[in-house]
Amino acid sequence: MIIATSALHEIRAKVQGRDRISSADALWLWKNASDAELRELAMAVRGRFHAPDACTYMVMRIVNYTNVCVAQCDYCAFYKLPGQAGGYVLSQEEVFAKLDELLVLGGDLAAFNGGFNPHLPLDYYCELFAAIRVRYGDQLEFYALTIAEFMYLADHAKLDFAAAAERFKQAGVRWITGGGSEILTEDFRRRHSKFKYTVAQYFEAQKAIVDAGLKTTATMVVGFDETIEERIEHLESTRQFQDETNGLASFLCWTFKPYFTQIGGIEITTAEYLRHLALCRIYLDNIPRIRTSVLTQNERALEGLLCGADDFDLPIEDEVTQKAGATISLNFEKILNYARELGFTPTYRHVALQPRD
Ligand code: SF4
Repeated sequence: MIIATSALHEIRAKVQGRDRISSADALWLWKNASDAELRELAMAVRGRFHAPDACTYMVMRIVNYTNVCVAQCDYCAFYKLPGQAGGYVLSQEEVFAKLDELLVLGGDLAAFNGGFNPHLPLDYYCELFAAIRVRYGDQLEFYALTIAEFMYLADHAKLDFAAAAERFKQAGVRWITGGGSEILTEDFRRRHSKFKYTVAQYFEAQKAIVDAGLKTTATMVVGFDETIEERIEHLESTRQFQDETNGLASFLCWTFKPYFTQIGGIEITTAEYLRHLALCRIYLDNIPRIRTSVLTQNERALEGLLCGADDFDLPIEDEVTQKAGATISLNFEKILNYARELGFTPTYRHVALQPRD
């Protein structure tokens, strides 16, 4: 008991002194700290970047432009193999209809996410992104691709990452986000997504994206079969990358939805997610914005604001998680009211107007 008290005392002193915690500290906290202690430390780190009652949100849509994919991740309920019934590719007109609807619902951020589709040439993407810029101007912003898709497209077009990043930039792309990271350990990827690039390749691609002057983010998904050590390794690599590049605008963690997936399993509890979010906030002391996932935790995600998060999306669609069991509510006022009940003042965040967001 005395040892535990002294370990907590040392970690608390680090946080209060703005020293960073180590992987060993994170492991200790996960195993020994109470929810209240984790929250207290997370809110102390949050306080370095944000006023106590401040939080921001966006209304957004994930546009799943194709579900055809050759990666065969065993945790995915979304994909169809090439030639399989149910596979689709959206036309420009179909994408525009989704973006028009997003604007009507008060949103202004679209995030494109699809499969590794061997039948879609680079031109499909470049023409689509250029057409969106022309049609919508600064009315809305878009996250063009996840890093995983970016790597596949670069490979498929036989371009190195720098050349691919430049090509997308020329097409009007400003953001390529950190999606497709799930758990960034080589062993996790061997177990579940062996065709989805290594951790080393992931960061090499993200470095090229930052070097090209494009904006990017960090993401993480928890609740598969990953160990706590793997979660901490993911956080350590992310923190290191941010130390080296300062290119990560935010960090978003969501939870795995197991329904209709090959690996199946049961969801982690919201309580576990919130503990993890607090640990992320404490560990990632060099990323100002930590985002909590309404998409996978619904309203209760907002309790993450009490665990160090400061930002969230109100999504109107994401077929990938919805196919695996996520449910989406368009009752934004109800969700925002919950944030208010928790003591926060949510403010809309316009990505298009804030260059570093
Ligand atoms: S998670 Fe993405 S890359 Fe993996 S199979 Fe599904 S669509 Fe393909």
